[in-house]
Amino acid sequence: MPFPKAKIIILDDEPLMLQMLTKLLSAQGYQTYPTLDSQQALLIIKNESFDLILMDILMPKINGFEFYEQIKEQLEAENIPIIFISALQGAANKVQAFKMGAADYITKPFRSEELLARIQTHLQSRQIQQQLQAQNQLLENEIKKRKKAKKARKRAERFMAGALDALAAHIAILDNNGTIIAVNAAWRNFADKKGLMSVNYAIGANYLEVCELASGDYITDAFAVAQGIRSVILKTKKAFYLEYPCHNPETQRWFAVRVTYFEDDKAIFAVVAHENITKRRLAEEALKQTNELLFQLATMDGLTQIANRRQFDTDLNREWQQALGEQRHFSLILADIDYFKNYNDYYGHQMGDDCLQQVAQSIQLTLINSRGLVARYGGEEFAIILPQTTLAQAKHQAEIIQQNIAALNIPHAKSEVSSIITLSLGIATTLPHLEYSAEQLLNQADQALYEAKAAGRNQIVMREI
Ligand code: GH3
Ligand code: MG
Ligand code: MG
Repeated sequence: MPFPKAKIIILDDEPLMLQMLTKLLSAQGYQTYPTLDSQQALLIIKNESFDLILMDILMPKINGFEFYEQIKEQLEAENIPIIFISALQGAANKVQAFKMGAADYITKPFRSEELLARIQTHLQSRQIQQQLQAQNQLLENEIKKRKKAKKARKRAERFMAGALDALAAHIAILDNNGTIIAVNAAWRNFADKKGLMSVNYAIGANYLEVCELASGDYITDAFAVAQGIRSVILKTKKAFYLEYPCHNPETQRWFAVRVTYFEDDKAIFAVVAHENITKRRLAEEALKQTNELLFQLATMDGLTQIANRRQFDTDLNREWQQALGEQRHFSLILADIDYFKNYNDYYGHQMGDDCLQQVAQSIQLTLINSRGLVARYGGEEFAIILPQTTLAQAKHQAEIIQQNIAALNIPHAKSEVSSIITLSLGIATTLPHLEYSAEQLLNQADQALYEAKAAGRNQIVMREI
């Protein structure tokens, strides 16, 4: 007996019949709600849960069909079968019952086995129907869930694509073979401008091969990018970064490429992002030039284009410190143009400037193959630092300077010592030690220069300390 707990309402106005039916069904293990009265039956139907109704048609208060009309909606909603059991034999009654939606129609007198078999059949079909409904409900829920998930996935995809498209960098995502599987709008735009080459940058192209087969100016950078992608995919590097020039005939451009990776539970992906860094590079370039210019302005003498006094002080300090460590002779020369005031007065300030430039350049050239450094020390006075130089070597250097100035052969009609521009030079040499300073040595050179002037000019005076 598959439905022993099924609940069955029995409505019949004949007490004997009702008793007989109740007995028969209870004996089968069904739970029965027997009732003689349709009003009471209605109460049970409204308030109890049950599985089947067994109902007479001819009843004193209400006809079975009319009663069925009243409860039909509820029964249909809950899939509850109704079986009419009646003494009415006419085919019309049966037809009406089935038309109304009854599950079955049994005529009295009936055989118990038949009634039981039919009840069993209808309960079974009700159960199957209920199972089907439950399954349908599950399926519907599942479909709803999937639709919702698909919608959410689509939205997430649109969200991610939107975010990538909003970025200015040209971004492509590669699978672990280097095949492009997604690109953003900036990448697409850039690729579109490549004309025939654009297939190299489209989804499906192998970017590693594209980089490795690059030619022309970009060959080295492109190869480095391919190497970088490989090492990131193999996780030997967390990221790869390279700045590279990408100039075209109209403009200078620089790009930076950054390769990073991410992975899900199945695979690893490389993210390649090219970013235009031209603005930054141009700004850096301009800054570098400005710095160079500033450095020149700060360290060079504007007129003669040799080191200025400030640079001389820095150089002297540095060289002196080094000389202290080296314990090698260190020499300074101060050179001053003779009767230069007269020159200016006679030839004019412009000629004076030209003369200063020539003298400065000549001294600078004389020192070009030595460690010597020359600076404009004052108006028409030059200071020369000679590291690792003995007195004799410094004297030799001074003589060459003198000769080179003579070779310039700049006429000086108002010099009292020569007909051309000449220099007076003071040399001071020492073996540096801690109790002595570069300033003291400079003082000595200045005194030597003073002596050279006093002794008649156009000559060299030396001091060794
Ligand atoms: P001495 O032989 O004793 O050195 O005599 P001097 O006339 O050369 O020396 P003095 O110090 O009296 O005069 C130096 C002159 O150098 C004064 C100035 O007119 C000139 N002078 C200094 N700086 C500049 C400059 O930048 N341009 C020009 N044209 N002349 C300068
Ligand atoms: Mg002078
Ligand atoms: Mg002077």
